[in-house]
Amino acid sequence: MEISVPSLVRIKPKALYKIGKYLRDEDHRRVVLLWGEGIAELLKPIVEVSLLSAEIEVLFETTVTDTEVESIFHMAVELPSQVEAIVAIGGGKAIDIGKYLAFLKRLPLFSVPTAVSNDGFCSPMASLTVRGKKTSFRVELPQAVIVDTEVLQKAPVRFLYSGMGDLFCKITSVYDWKLAYRKVREPVNDFAANMARSAADTFLYYDDKSLENPDFLRVIATSLMMSGIAMEVARSSRPASGSEHLISHAYDRLSEKPNLHGLQVGVASYAVSLLQEKTEPLIRKAIEESGFLAFMQEHPLSLRTFEEAVKLAPQMKENYYTILSEKGSVEKLLELIRENTILRSMVAED
Ligand SMILES: [Zn+2]
Repeated sequence: MEISVPSLVRIKPKALYKIGKYLRDEDHRRVVLLWGEGIAELLKPIVEVSLLSAEIEVLFETTVTDTEVESIFHMAVELPSQVEAIVAIGGGKAIDIGKYLAFLKRLPLFSVPTAVSNDGFCSPMASLTVRGKKTSFRVELPQAVIVDTEVLQKAPVRFLYSGMGDLFCKITSVYDWKLAYRKVREPVNDFAANMARSAADTFLYYDDKSLENPDFLRVIATSLMMSGIAMEVARSSRPASGSEHLISHAYDRLSEKPNLHGLQVGVASYAVSLLQEKTEPLIRKAIEESGFLAFMQEHPLSLRTFEEAVKLAPQMKENYYTILSEKGSVEKLLELIRENTILRSMVAED
């Protein structure tokens, strides 16, 4: 089994200023630029100077607005044949499209997230739309991951809290994976499970969890990257996605206005930790110390949708054993949503 991981990783302040140099280091001189919405307005001057000084030629560039798979096919057909690399700069959409375009064209991808709200910027899955329906596609990992921590700091804080949620939840997802081994003999790749858990632990045991601390942002971004790579090692989303993700997927389906993935997953992770019991003190520590809890108390999820999502969650994925597959667990969690004061404070009546 061959695992190809990113060979160039720069997660630091002002990394964006060197993007031209990084492309040149990897011997890419002709590139395609994909911008997330509103991102070119903010960052184009920096990127342009950097590319120019490294003599990198941009053969095609566009701002991506939708993740419809058809538009990516069109883009793939139109792409000039001399292109040597795809550079995706933006949030989730631009990077998902970059991943799939790189996959279709067998080209390396430079993943340049401007916010780290989930582990998608370096994962082997691209979330795209097929005739209006969200679908996951298997793709390759990016060749390079470039995260400018100064850019992260300028993004709205909800993105960072969302990134934290998609990170500490690996504690409950790895628990579920091991439970699936005990209950239905689903094989566990121990290395991948350890990688995901260790990514969450790095965050959990980091002392100064302040958003003003650029080193903390580096830890969040690096750990999310590790979680994405754990999925590649496992050849499945298991290390990064357990019952908390099923609840979030159900919430996405039920809600007219879903929240950010990592915010939903983070709340759901605390919820399922109450069933898993031994993970609860860890998740509680994570949400209390990082400010995630306080943020969600100010911006709660919908109580009704959350309850419906808990009911729907076990049916979200076939043959996917989690704590919610245990007899009576859904009913127990529905009671806990009303009784547990911490959980109840992160969901509110509409
Ligand atoms: Zn996730």
